[in-house]
Amino acid sequence: MSIFDLDIIKSELEGKKNAGLLLLKSEEKKIINLNIWVDNKTLIVADAFVVYHNTARGPAKGGIRIDKNVTLDETTDLAERMTLKTALTGIPFGGGKSGIRMDSTKLDSYMKKEIIKEFVHIIRSDLETGYYVPAPDMGTGPKEMATIYGQTHKQECVTGKPLGIGGLPGRKEATGRGVAFSAMYGLRKLYKQDIKGMKVAIQGFGNVGSWTAFFLDRMGAKVVAVSDLNGGLVNNKGFDVTKLMSYYSKNNSLTGFEGEAISNEGLLAIAADILIPAACENVLTDKTAGKVKAKLVVEGANGPTTKEADEIFKRRGIEVIPDILANSGGVIASYIEWKSAKSGSLTSAEEVFEFIDKTIERCFTSLLALKKDRKLTNKEAGLVLAVDEIITAMENRGWI
Ligand code: NAD
Repeated sequence: MSIFDLDIIKSELEGKKNAGLLLLKSEEKKIINLNIWVDNKTLIVADAFVVYHNTARGPAKGGIRIDKNVTLDETTDLAERMTLKTALTGIPFGGGKSGIRMDSTKLDSYMKKEIIKEFVHIIRSDLETGYYVPAPDMGTGPKEMATIYGQTHKQECVTGKPLGIGGLPGRKEATGRGVAFSAMYGLRKLYKQDIKGMKVAIQGFGNVGSWTAFFLDRMGAKVVAVSDLNGGLVNNKGFDVTKLMSYYSKNNSLTGFEGEAISNEGLLAIAADILIPAACENVLTDKTAGKVKAKLVVEGANGPTTKEADEIFKRRGIEVIPDILANSGGVIASYIEWKSAKSGSLTSAEEVFEFIDKTIERCFTSLLALKKDRKLTNKEAGLVLAVDEIITAMENRGWI
């Protein structure tokens, strides 16, 4: 189901000329075969998808995912969420996404480099004209972005690059920073509570999950549960997050670190104040949402809560901070990196974090005002604000 099929978006589009039609049909989809020669005799062929959703507000912006479960539908959904995220946060980009269907855990850095080179070869003109500006997502990181820079020689063609070749200080931490700030600010605004001492459970300990844990720990929260693809750990006193992060980066696994084992599903139901799904889509469903004990869910991942789960949370009075706000720190930082590449200016991580915090605070304030005004959930209010921004842009472009 497309996010644009949600009732709240449909009703917002009602009577707005052909805006609804345009928003649903403005997708440009590319289905690609990547042919990669591993050696003289071995050719690997991988399916890849590129989706540009709506570019009324700016170039298509969105990460490149390498994962064995990538599909065209998933890539489309993620591109649509980027359109909404950039619109809600007022960043002058449209929505895009790429997916390469391969098991990233089985790829070494040489193979990833060959895959990315082939990928650039196929979409070169979109990158060089600035029509599409990719970034890292699951299975890709700064090294892969450096390969894109190496193939195009234009620093503004890609964001999420390593420091020293046009990378932005604070970019790797940016999404987690935004998720942590959203949790802290959300708790304050929605429950009038301070983050200090609050128990947090985080699903996924990759880029988003680990940096979210880092910043929440620094804010005084207690990270009591974490997990990755292979399961999780609980420590009711709160993990030493710095130690945990260095253990994880050395061992690429949580196994062996001090704590009690827990399954990924068990983590969702743990007694914590805040639950942060930061791994993948559709983990909070009609089967799992009823068991959640946290009072606040902060969507670190894209699309972790299904429509049915949203209904359950609404009924149970559990507040959800939507992905298009909570994990927007990455694209906000990407915007600074893109702008710096064009102007040649330099910035510090602290300035980047400050810009992320201020942007999220500003959007949150508008979202809460609309929520109160129209009696909506946080997610509904965010979607309405985003859709209205896109409609205005389409009107200004003369599309409608
Ligand atoms: P990552 O590859 O760095 O980490 C993903 C983590 O989730 C890993 O710890 C992995 O083991 C775990 N995981 C994967 N599948 C799982 C499952 N089924 N159950 C439990 N754990 C699982 O990816 P990331 O960059 O941290 O992205 C995580 C999510 O955040 C994705 O939905 C991504 O689209 C979204 N996101 C990422 C960024 C960014 O800047 N990296 C920005 C916005 C949104």
